[in-house]
Amino acid sequence: MILAVASGKGGTGKTTVAVNLARAWGSSVQLADCDVEEPNAHLFLSGILQGEESVVIPVPEVNEALCNGCGECGRFCAYHAIVSFGTKPLIFPEMCHGCGGCAKVCPEKAIREVGHRIGVAKTVQAENITLVQGCLDVGVVMSSPLIRAVKARLQNGLAAVLDAPPGTSCPVIATLRGADFVILVTEPTPFGLHDLRLAVDMVQELRIPFGVIVNRVGIGDDRVHAYCHEAGVPILLEIPDDRRIAEAYSRGELIIEALPEYRDHFEGLREAVLERISQNSHPRSQIMPRVAAPGASGSQR
Ligand code: SF4
Ligand code: SF4
Repeated sequence: MILAVASGKGGTGKTTVAVNLARAWGSSVQLADCDVEEPNAHLFLSGILQGEESVVIPVPEVNEALCNGCGECGRFCAYHAIVSFGTKPLIFPEMCHGCGGCAKVCPEKAIREVGHRIGVAKTVQAENITLVQGCLDVGVVMSSPLIRAVKARLQNGLAAVLDAPPGTSCPVIATLRGADFVILVTEPTPFGLHDLRLAVDMVQELRIPFGVIVNRVGIGDDRVHAYCHEAGVPILLEIPDDRRIAEAYSRGELIIEALPEYRDHFEGLREAVLERISQNSHPRSQIMPRVAAPGASGSQR
C-alpha cells in the first residue's frame, strides 16, 4: 500500500502531515522523502543510519576513434545534452536524463554509458518508521531519477508514505506514479485554492484516488471548503491554525508527540485513507472524487 502526500505549493504542511501520519501508523511503516532538493523529514525523526548509497544515472561517453561526427546523437537528444557540430560531440552530463537514446542511434557504436552521480539515498530506522531519503547533490537538477531510486528502495508488502516535492511538475509525477492514494494538503487561502485546483487536475489525470487535508483552518476564507464541497472532494482532516503546532514544528517535534491530543486525528486519518484504498475493489470511477469543470459555478468564489 503506497500513500503519497502532496501539495500544489510549498509551505502547506505536507511534510508535517507525512511524518505525523507515519508515526501514528501504529506498526512498521516506510516513509520516503521524495522532496530530494530539500529533504526535511529527517529533522523530525531521530534514528539510526542503516545505509547510504550513491545514486548514478547513465550518461554517454564517446569513443573518439569510432566517431565520424555524423551528428545523429545530437539530433536525437531532446535535452541538448549531447551536441555535435560535425566533430566529436560535446556532452553536458548535468543536462542528460540518462535515457540511453544517443547510444542506440549512433551508427558507429561509438557511445558507451558511464555512471554520473546525482545524489545519495539514505535509509534511517526511527522507531516504527523506516525513512528512505533522497538528497540531490548541489548543482544537480535531475531530481526524478533520484526519486525513482528512492522509491526502488522501498520494501514490497510494507506500507509506505511518500512525501512528495511541492508543485505539479515532473518530480511530483515521478513520486505519485504507482501510489494507491494521494493526500493533497492545502490551506484555506486564495493561493491554497489556486494550487489545490492544479494538484486536483494532476491526480485526476493520473487517475489516482485522493482526498484533501486543510491545514491552518482559521486563517483565510472558506473558498477551499466550498470548492471541495461542490466538487465532491473529500476533506479527510482539518488542522486548526494552532500556534502550538508552529512552535512544535520550529523545535523539530512531531505534533502527535508534542500535542498528544492530535494523535487521534492522525490515527483517524490513517483509518480514513485505508478505508478509501480498500474501495479499490470497485472501479476507479466510483471512488474518484467528482471534480467540477473549470469555471463551474461556485468554484470561482
Ligand atoms: S542519454 Fe538521452 S538525455 Fe542523455 S545525452 Fe543521450 S539522448 Fe540525451
Ligand atoms: S552518433 Fe555516434 S558517430 Fe555520430 S556524432 Fe554521435 S557519437 Fe559520433
